[in-house]
Amino acid sequence: MKKEQASAKRDLTKINLTADLIVAGGGLSGVCAAITAARQGIKVLLVQDRPVLGGNSSSEVRLWILGATSHMGNNNRWAREGGVIDEILVENTYRNPEGNPLILDMILLDKVTQEKNIQLLLNTAVFEVDKEGDQIKSITAFCSQNSTLYQLQAPLFCDATGDGIVGFLAGAAFRMGAESKDEFDEGMAPTAEYGELLGHSLYFYSKDTGRPVKFTPPDFALSDITEIPRFRQFNANEFGCKLWWVEYGGRLDTVHDTEKIKWELWKVVYGIWNHIKNSGEFPEAENLTLEWVGTIPGKRESRRFEGDYMLSQKDLIEQRSHEDAVAFGGWSIDLHPADGVYSERPGCNQWHGKGIFEIPYRTLYSKNISNLFIAGRIISVSHVAFGATRVMATCAYIGQSIGMATVLCKEEGLLPREVLTKGYIQQLQQKLSLNGQYIPGVNIQDQLDLIPQSEISVSSTLNFRGFDRVDLWKSLTTASAQLFPILKGELPVFNIAVNALKPTTFKTSLRISERAGNFTPDQVLATKEIEIQAGEQTINLDFGVALPEASYVFIVFDANDDVQLGFTEERVTGVLSVFNSINKAVSNFGKQTPPADAGVDEFEFWCPQRRPQGQNLAISFAMPQPIFEKSNLTNGIDRPVSQPNAWVADPRDFSPTLNFEWDEEKKIKQIDLWFDADFDHPMESVLMGHPETVMPFCVRKYVVKDQFGNVVFEKDDNFQTHQRIILDEAMVTKKLTIEIEHPSELVPAAIFAVRCYSEIKL
Ligand SMILES: Cc1cc2nc3c(=O)[nH]c(=O)nc-3n(C[C@H](O)[C@H](O)[C@H](O)COP(=O)(O)OP(=O)(O)OC[C@H]3O[C@@H](n4cnc5c(N)ncnc54)[C@H](O)[C@@H]3O)c2cc1C
Repeated sequence: MKKEQASAKRDLTKINLTADLIVAGGGLSGVCAAITAARQGIKVLLVQDRPVLGGNSSSEVRLWILGATSHMGNNNRWAREGGVIDEILVENTYRNPEGNPLILDMILLDKVTQEKNIQLLLNTAVFEVDKEGDQIKSITAFCSQNSTLYQLQAPLFCDATGDGIVGFLAGAAFRMGAESKDEFDEGMAPTAEYGELLGHSLYFYSKDTGRPVKFTPPDFALSDITEIPRFRQFNANEFGCKLWWVEYGGRLDTVHDTEKIKWELWKVVYGIWNHIKNSGEFPEAENLTLEWVGTIPGKRESRRFEGDYMLSQKDLIEQRSHEDAVAFGGWSIDLHPADGVYSERPGCNQWHGKGIFEIPYRTLYSKNISNLFIAGRIISVSHVAFGATRVMATCAYIGQSIGMATVLCKEEGLLPREVLTKGYIQQLQQKLSLNGQYIPGVNIQDQLDLIPQSEISVSSTLNFRGFDRVDLWKSLTTASAQLFPILKGELPVFNIAVNALKPTTFKTSLRISERAGNFTPDQVLATKEIEIQAGEQTINLDFGVALPEASYVFIVFDANDDVQLGFTEERVTGVLSVFNSINKAVSNFGKQTPPADAGVDEFEFWCPQRRPQGQNLAISFAMPQPIFEKSNLTNGIDRPVSQPNAWVADPRDFSPTLNFEWDEEKKIKQIDLWFDADFDHPMESVLMGHPETVMPFCVRKYVVKDQFGNVVFEKDDNFQTHQRIILDEAMVTKKLTIEIEHPSELVPAAIFAVRCYSEIKL
């Protein structure tokens, strides 16, 4: 038994810890910063004030992780963020296709605890900062669960807390609210009447119990549902983040008034549930019960810290290039009325860009606290640009950039700003790219990679002639297009499978995107109108056009109810059909027509359909397009951009094989393989289910052999984008062979890149 005499005062147990990097906040930006750094050998302390990781994506708040893919409702093709966030989303889709938020918590805890260089402190809140000059020396945090005070010391700090508690206490320059229109010439800068801050939201989940359930609301529930102007939009079957517009607090201090805002949101949530259960308007809710109500509000916006550059609307909309780009975003500029759920206005004001935008390194560190990185939603952006950078996959991407920058800081003895000023940005970009973080305009060039020095041979290559197999017919009720990667020069004649229900005029056009790498078909190269008779037929379309550069072309068919188009179940890496359809979830109404002074573009949306839909159009061409050549393996881009950038095997090749041969023996310790886990799929993490656990393009089985045919590594259940093979014992060989299997009869095997090294290269 422990017995203590009465004493005047006692102190908390105190533990001192040191690391190379302290990451405060375990949302996705903090998690991805910590994992990226830890994998490169950085000792990380990850301090999270809650019992689980993930921040707004966790089971405490339950928001689906989104980014540049924008629910597949914008024109950003193959734009899912790469690196650690890709690994997490692919893993979550594999283990949790139902979107259970508790399983996502588990996966994040699993990923973090697998890293021996991360020490994780859960339930531990940072509340104090100790400084010397313009640097943070230590932070102090308290864990309520073990009654322990932690003093945490490191040369580098990353504030990923959402509200920026570290930056705030350290005296870092910040802003809260919205800039005037003039400061950055932003057409979307809001008026004071619209409001200058986005509010918090709190969600509920309901469940069918199979028998009638009564609900008696608490006294504090909203009693008059008509106080919510949009109350008619409630629907008994919608819950969770579909009710994102149940928002409040944009006129308050979203840091210090958070408890007040939470009570108002609880009032609203229980009021909504009372309305659904007891108004008599929702008989279908008879058997429903409340399964869960959020206890922690999801915070959208509070402080934004100032770095050496503030990203603003024009950077996004004009897709400005930055030499120090380390990440990209692609969500719309998505602002909300400050009155939230009580506003008469639409719940959001979303305008999209024509393509993805770059995020420069200068926005990721504090301009006046020299050892402080700022991550996630607090980066150096204007209120308007924040409307797009704030989504979680983008925040995670930002976190990864910071995690990797800390490696250079440690290796070269640099402060965050010095990575830029002392000329290490290209090195940072290369290190990120080599770990899956695609950065627009950056090509991978790695002197240590042995593959470019080898003679590459492959057992076959898909000599692409489109698709001539018709598996199904679909009515052309919506304007449809096939997106094909085509080489520079004369365009092939396209043969299109068509079934006309009666004689009609078939209207087609050939479009491309004005800007390389975009998928907004804003340039019409040719149009054709063809009179066709009733019945199944093949139409030959010769646009008579030559392409100045290799690029994707859109073969567009105007809607025509009298026509059916042939579709195929065959799929190929980097090839998609797209439709001029509507996706209200992301303010896509087929065409974006903004007000004249908003400073955003007018354009059409052409988006793919989700599988099992989204088949390719049965369009073939006699002139083959050699776009899946083995040269793609070393072209330095590991995802489809202006071309598919993949080597694809011939589907008739029973054993697709790649051989890499050198004149002399090479020592090989590490092999990196980059497969196609479908960067076009948004992989929403919760609420929304997915029809597949493994992406149809992804090679599942592969074998690695040395020059004598000895198997040095094999795998038969891959589902990830990236495979990093580190051999226990380095092999010495003149030849490396990789045998892969086609993912299925309908999808030929594809690889974006193979890299190999004599030593471990992280
Ligand atoms: C209602 C709502 C809807 C949204 N919709 C979407 C959507 O559909 N998809 C999407 O991707 N994004 C969405 N967003 C935006 C997105 O959720 C946030 O911008 C994003 O979570 C910010 O990431 P972060 O890592 O910076 O912060 P957070 O996710 O907030 O994580 C910060 C973490 O730091 C922790 N922390 C805070 N203070 C301390 C402290 N003192 N000590 C230690 N830890 C601390 C917090 O507990 C939290 O876990 C939405 C946001 C809201 C609120």
